[in-house]
Amino acid sequence: MRKHIVAGNWKMNNNLAQTQDLITALKHQNISSDAEVMIAPSFTNLYSAFETLKDHPVEVIAQNMHFAEHGAYTGEVSASMLESVGVKTVILGHSERRAYFGETDDILAKKVDAAFAANLRVIFCFGEELADRKSGNEESVVASQIKNALFHLDASAFKNIVLAYEPVWAIGTGETASPEQAQDMHKFIRKTLNDKYGEDVADQMSILYGGSVKPNNAKEIFSKPDVDGGLIGGAALNADDFFAIVNAF
Ligand code: PGA
Repeated sequence: MRKHIVAGNWKMNNNLAQTQDLITALKHQNISSDAEVMIAPSFTNLYSAFETLKDHPVEVIAQNMHFAEHGAYTGEVSASMLESVGVKTVILGHSERRAYFGETDDILAKKVDAAFAANLRVIFCFGEELADRKSGNEESVVASQIKNALFHLDASAFKNIVLAYEPVWAIGTGETASPEQAQDMHKFIRKTLNDKYGEDVADQMSILYGGSVKPNNAKEIFSKPDVDGGLIGGAALNADDFFAIVNAF
């Protein structure tokens, strides 16, 4: 049985007071789902989020980190800094990081290594742009994103990786990949892992879908056999909506 995971990526939203308010609202929700539930507030609010969620099953995770251990990287945050406030899981490779902050596959490979050196689990994001899908190149783009950033790793490292397929054209646009499109791509991703690492790695890998997941479409997307959860942006900023998605499992 693969782990089900629903992670809320808050992006650059919510100051300290708003973070506390949303967490308080989350704590009032019932979890009727077997999914692991995670939220990713901004760096400045991670510490207080951990304090507020002490002994609560919702895990606080980070949205990003730098690959260097420490040093002259003004404005950056390292894996060990995250680890020191209690972070155990970090999102890497989000399409907004790739598009606006120049994160390449090579940089992401280094970030993945740095995360593992600090014993962090990685939610690794990737996905094609609209032009790739229109030209029928979505599978080759996705395969190369995965290979370039992850295929230098040993099979054992994949226990600490969660994959998140997020077609760029579906993020924040209200346009969701159809459940069939998501399933087809997730199946392809699992096959790509299988070809390189074998069935054990491929079968145990949780593959999340992200891109305009909402309460009204979560159940259908999550019902697909190769979709093991979701990475939720906009709908994660409202406690009722987020938990309607969590409880869709
Ligand atoms: P969205 O974002 O749910 O707002 O489309 C998903 C994401 O970027 O992780």
